[in-house]
Amino acid sequence: MLSTSCQKEQVVLVDTTIQPYFDLFEKEGEARGRTIDLSAEGIQGILTTLEEGNVQGQCAVNNTTGIKTIRVDQTFWNTASNLEKEFLIFHELGHCYLDRRHLDETDSRGNCNSMMYTGNNVCKMRYTSSTRSTYLDELFQ
Ligand SMILES: [Zn+2]
Repeated sequence: MLSTSCQKEQVVLVDTTIQPYFDLFEKEGEARGRTIDLSAEGIQGILTTLEEGNVQGQCAVNNTTGIKTIRVDQTFWNTASNLEKEFLIFHELGHCYLDRRHLDETDSRGNCNSMMYTGNNVCKMRYTSSTRSTYLDELFQ
């Protein structure tokens, strides 16, 4: 039997379909003057079944180990577009990595000022190829 009892290095678990969005988060952050190394932070990303009704993702923190895991609903992930996946992962990394809380401020037309909005239509969120860079500027500010 092979013993791994001396193995101290922590294995960071990130689903291979989530990893590209982690990489993109680092890249977009770097383009805005941030140095981000998610694997050094040990942030995990897994696909699972989230029981709560319409929750698509969450940043879960293990109370004992302090390990942060982004949990993504498998059913959502199966049908989401690239932008929808990016929005979800970036929002959750906003919590898990940037330590941001929800922000529901709007402009005069009722559009969300931040992708860290609570959800559930508290403001109008249109995350598209034309609005995304403005939202990313706000996220990494
Ligand atoms: Zn949130």
